[in-house]
Amino acid sequence: MVVLPTNFQFSQASLQDYVDCPRRFQLRYVLQLAWPAQEVEPALENELHVQQGAAFHRLIHRHVLGISAEDLSRTVREPDLRRWWHNYLERGPQELPEARHPEAVLSAPLGDCRLVARYDLVAVDAGRRAVIVDWKTSRKRTKREFLAERLQTKVYPCLLVRAGAHLNGGQAIAPEQVEMIYWFADYPEEPARFGYDAAQYEADEAYLDSLVEEIVGLEDFPLTAQDQRCKFCPYRSLCQRGVRAGTLDEAPDAARQAIEDEADAGDALGIDIDFEQIAEIAY
Ligand code: SF4
Repeated sequence: MVVLPTNFQFSQASLQDYVDCPRRFQLRYVLQLAWPAQEVEPALENELHVQQGAAFHRLIHRHVLGISAEDLSRTVREPDLRRWWHNYLERGPQELPEARHPEAVLSAPLGDCRLVARYDLVAVDAGRRAVIVDWKTSRKRTKREFLAERLQTKVYPCLLVRAGAHLNGGQAIAPEQVEMIYWFADYPEEPARFGYDAAQYEADEAYLDSLVEEIVGLEDFPLTAQDQRCKFCPYRSLCQRGVRAGTLDEAPDAARQAIEDEADAGDALGIDIDFEQIAEIAY
């Protein structure tokens, strides 16, 4: 059996890492090994994209908290960011419930561990609807079929049902009340929307339980058989799977999405999750 670090909590990102490559999960989360290597070339261009993605998430966060669009617009200079911000203001998701919870953090037990998620936005009409919105700055619009299989699409709605009652006037949120929207800053007219229901909730719970059971029972974490992914993984030299990073254009879908997700990761906001605090949240 693997020994996970004290207070370790699973997240959609760590579970996705495990599904993409068990060895990467081991290196990153069990051994907590930082390995300084580029994930993709050109590195500077990607770094700028990550920075702009973080800036975009900060802008929306402040806007949802009540700072005026006019005041925020004065701070936006970089062309990509200006375009995304304009698209958000002009063609952002419509008809969201009034009660907005940006950067909501939820946590619930998962097997003998816990599962945690930080949401870009949860908009709630108590007792009626709960809409999860995830802002994406992906350079290509991700295919719906691909998103449907991502851990994020399973973890976020499932955890909202299990642990989101305090956002819903104290009542548990029913699966049928949940919707998840991926909104793409460069493709504002093409959001990907996912409804939810009890059957999907049960399937997601069973899948997440089995995944965690499998992980904690492992002693050896195999390298992925899909070695084309390794070109885009910082551990490639450690795993003896090459030295140079590939370019985004040649990345397989899973590797591309992992790279794109960096720009949209919650920690881009620089807000640390206080695990002690969320452990107190009712579930
Ligand atoms: S280099 Fe390849 S095998 Fe090694 S951790 Fe990364 S994806 Fe897995």
